[in-house]
Amino acid sequence: MTRLAVCISLVLFFFSAAQAQDGQAPNPCGTQMGRNTWLKRYQQAPETFPKSNTTLYVPLTIHLLGADSGQGYFSVARLLDAFCTLNSDYEDADIRYYIEGDILYLANSFWNSHPDVLDGAAMMFENNVANTINCYFLADPAGNCGYNLPYAGIALRKDCSDAADHTWAHELGHALSIPHPFIGWENGGSYGNPPHNYNNPAPPFVTYDYTYFKDTLIIDTLIIDTAYVELVDGSNCTFAADGFCDTSPDYLANRWDCNANSESTTQQTDPLGVQFRSDGTLIMSYSDDACANRFSPEQIAAMRANLLDEKPHLLYNQTAEAPVSGTPVLLQPANAENVPSNQVELQWQGAQNATHYLVQVSRLTTFPGGITLEYVVTDTLITLPELDVNKTYYWRVRPFNRQYHCTEFTAYRSFHTEEVTSVGSLSAVESLKVAPNILTAGQPAVLHAEVSQQKTLQVMLVSAEGRLLLHTTIEMVPGNNRAEVALPATLSSGLYLLQIKDEAGGVYQEKLSVVN
Ligand SMILES: [Zn+2]
Repeated sequence: MTRLAVCISLVLFFFSAAQAQDGQAPNPCGTQMGRNTWLKRYQQAPETFPKSNTTLYVPLTIHLLGADSGQGYFSVARLLDAFCTLNSDYEDADIRYYIEGDILYLANSFWNSHPDVLDGAAMMFENNVANTINCYFLADPAGNCGYNLPYAGIALRKDCSDAADHTWAHELGHALSIPHPFIGWENGGSYGNPPHNYNNPAPPFVTYDYTYFKDTLIIDTLIIDTAYVELVDGSNCTFAADGFCDTSPDYLANRWDCNANSESTTQQTDPLGVQFRSDGTLIMSYSDDACANRFSPEQIAAMRANLLDEKPHLLYNQTAEAPVSGTPVLLQPANAENVPSNQVELQWQGAQNATHYLVQVSRLTTFPGGITLEYVVTDTLITLPELDVNKTYYWRVRPFNRQYHCTEFTAYRSFHTEEVTSVGSLSAVESLKVAPNILTAGQPAVLHAEVSQQKTLQVMLVSAEGRLLLHTTIEMVPGNNRAEVALPATLSSGLYLLQIKDEAGGVYQEKLSVVN
């Protein structure tokens, strides 16, 4: 190579690297799979493969990637929205994906934006959970919106995983053996050739590189395969392209927008000279997200057979959960209430069939990503880590269970953090807790206190409006005490303050909720 040629290729290299860094639109999908061995076998005799008439429940392990500093994770709220779209995309297939185990967090800047799918493979080999499909949400999966490695898992770009996107459904289609309808055209034409001019008849077959997308990882051999180009008349549909006869010819391997008929605006020409447009409704095509909405019946049958025949290890839990219904009711703190900054306990009444709650706490009512705190809990209360003093915070709750994610947040409430009041203001009291602090009318308040000397404590119940409703005394002996305080039987639902005073004038108070 001459020195000039070296210079030119170096310039081109830096130019393309700079373009990628400048926020160039990601490639829709990095998966370059052929018809794998299983699919070829299946397509020769689909009727001989196992079938089932029931919903298939498939476990996904969710990995959220952030920077080394622990920042920048995909928000759980967006994850739930993406899950909702995913299961809606698979409704016709009667496949329901569910969250297996806890959502896992990985702080690793390199994996979060990895330059090559082999780096993604290394990440997956190190973190995968067996017998589930492992899905990694990260900032940049090697310049793609997503890719599926058959032997490892799925990487998804956070920015391509919103409620309106079908990238997740597309990559899971690959995971269940379905290739692109334009298989072989991933590089615009045959391997090593310039892009094809669609006005000219297509060649009878195209060649393509699918080295990293075989059933096992192969890194020392370049694998070039051949795909027959599908004809419009359907005569070679059983073995050309993806091998499905109900996905019509498609040679388009760049993101494209649909016309009013949900077809490509680009007209293509098959090897016999017949012109056609691609079907944009197919999720496995590269049509825009607003157009893609379905898998074909043959694709659906193949995905179900693939689960039943090749991946029965994923089907170990076929228990249906009931859909979440109703909305949580926020109980306390009351709206706009003042609370000690280190004792913020949020409580709510659960929604039906919810097993998990996403709690968001933010300084802004818009709950923007990045600066909103998120917690996933299985209970209907949470004690927050210490917050800033003298600030207004907003909070809301979204119910879900492992199989149902199409839920809404409650309306938000606010609270204001104030200086801490502590048990320490009562002399000789080591600890004091009122539990439970959600009661029904007629139920006594129970104080659990540890004191170091005999004491008489005054106990007062005050309404939210500041009215004194009860004033009594309790005796404490050294050690642990449990004292029941009978409350007025006619208390209406609402928030009350239980104030405890000692002889020296020290005061401690706790909130009580009455729910009738
Ligand atoms: Zn793809």
